Amino acid sequence: MTRVLGFDPSTDSASLGIATAGSYPGLNGTRRTMVRLAGPPQMVVSPAGGAPASISVFPGLGSLGGAGLTFDMPGQSAAFTSAPLPSALQVTGSPTVRVRVAGASGVTLFAKVYDVDQAGNATLPNQLAAPLRVSGAQGGRVVTVTLPAIDYNFAAGHRLRLVLTTTDFAYGTPPTPAVYQVALAGPGLIMPSDPALTVVTGGLPWWVWAAPLAALLAAGLILGLGRGRRRDSFVPDLADVPLEITGLTKRYKDGQLAVDDLSLRVERGQILGLLGPNGAGKTTTLRALMGLLHPETGTITIFGRRVHAGSPALSRLGSFVEGPGFLPHLSGRANLDLYWRATGRPTDGAHLAEVLEVAGLGAAIDRKVRAYSRGMCQRLAIAQAMLGLPDLLVLDEPMNGLDPAGIHEMRDMLRGLTGEGRTVILSSHLLGEVEQTCSHVVVMNEGRRLAAGPVEEIIGQAGALMVGTPEHERAVSVLRTLPGIEGAEAHPDGVLVHHDGVPASEVVAALVGAGVPVERVGPSRRLEDAFLALIAAPPGGSPSAAGGGTEAGPDLVGSQERGR
Ligand code: ATP
Repeated sequence: MTRVLGFDPSTDSASLGIATAGSYPGLNGTRRTMVRLAGPPQMVVSPAGGAPASISVFPGLGSLGGAGLTFDMPGQSAAFTSAPLPSALQVTGSPTVRVRVAGASGVTLFAKVYDVDQAGNATLPNQLAAPLRVSGAQGGRVVTVTLPAIDYNFAAGHRLRLVLTTTDFAYGTPPTPAVYQVALAGPGLIMPSDPALTVVTGGLPWWVWAAPLAALLAAGLILGLGRGRRRDSFVPDLADVPLEITGLTKRYKDGQLAVDDLSLRVERGQILGLLGPNGAGKTTTLRALMGLLHPETGTITIFGRRVHAGSPALSRLGSFVEGPGFLPHLSGRANLDLYWRATGRPTDGAHLAEVLEVAGLGAAIDRKVRAYSRGMCQRLAIAQAMLGLPDLLVLDEPMNGLDPAGIHEMRDMLRGLTGEGRTVILSSHLLGEVEQTCSHVVVMNEGRRLAAGPVEEIIGQAGALMVGTPEHERAVSVLRTLPGIEGAEAHPDGVLVHHDGVPASEVVAALVGAGVPVERVGPSRRLEDAFLALIAAPPGGSPSAAGGGTEAGPDLVGSQERGR
């Protein structure tokens, strides 16, 4: 700790030293010295509301108030003084003293120890006073008072004076007046010290200047790196590409690999559906592209700007992922207003009227959010993501909780947005909706991209057959033994057959030959079937349709890939 060793008149400044010890002595010190005090029991008055008050320090000024400003109101303070000290006394820690107080049920006092010189001038070290409250003191109560911790040298010949006052300018005190009696209950003050403390003079230890210097260097380094990154963060070739993800890999702290070398590219005007079973890595991908998590490897650019937390690229993105968290006691409109103001952007840039029309909440926008249904909350969340009409909209499960009419309106709304050249990325498990709403899809499983391309291409290339038969189980067991069949499973519409280019006629012949009636057969062109086929294929399996199998690259067009 820093210790004032004296005053140097040649430089008009205090000379400082550094007191250090091998271990922390604590507030009780490693040695204690008893300084006897004398003085009779004294009656002290606690005035109503604590006015006028004694002063130990001016609140807000701290020690700037000056040592001479301490003052104890007559009649409100009890003082107990020692004999002159035979030798100097270095105190490091909190002195303690035992006193007896009597009077009211709750007694409030302020305790301090003065350094009194031979001329009677009293100095309060560091202008510190310890407030204390003693309960149950009507009949008298003995307490040990712990005074403020100090590092202070009392000179030889000086006296110590313990003062207990009922008021202090820096504190509020009880409103009712009272009279207390204060008396010593022990021989005097116990003063702690640590003889192991040695004082180094002639300059400050190295860390006093090295620590701020190191902090400055670190700040410079961070700023420099930040500048470097910002300079590199724009890729002009991608300035018109809403989103490009290249080689994105994210492993969580617990070791879970959530996204594995994912690459994809989204062009202007597309509505991209991100599909995958639970745990496929969709939300992790969306969170990464919103700058909410730091990927291990890979780059993400939005309109050519690299994404990271706080990146300017994010100003062109509107999103909601994992629930927006509205304030329930405010109306929907107030929530939107608050959100927009928090972005610090100009009010007229919010396009609130257009957004509200799209959200379709009607008069409910002025009701408190706590009264909203799930679907209404969802609409408000979408409205929030759309504030400012961003160029790129990212929505995690936007159709959750919407009624059929809401889903229909949402579809129209998203199409309307892309018609204006905006781009939408959404994740969903509602494959029928994705098929109707999205122009493109990316199918993920276990963090990897299984397929990507226009919806019709993904549906067409999956090439599953739907066989209409009343005997599902027999059909499945016959087909599973047929060469070229990758899988067959019961389906509400019949039996879904995943095949590797086997003609439909062969499938029918095999079934009829085994005595299984066939009512109809046709290509299953639904996205759900294509999705199931993609997910069902074993890792390392071959693509289920001709034309698939390109390497995973950022291009979306016609790329189905497996077995990476
Ligand atoms: P769902 O359709 O169920 O929402 P998802 O495709 O969005 O799934 P993610 O939420 O991205 O999948 O999860 C991908 C994998 O990462 C899962 O195995 C999941 O358990 C794991 N995961 C997600 N968040 C964390 C996390 N904070 N810490 C550890 N593992 C996580």
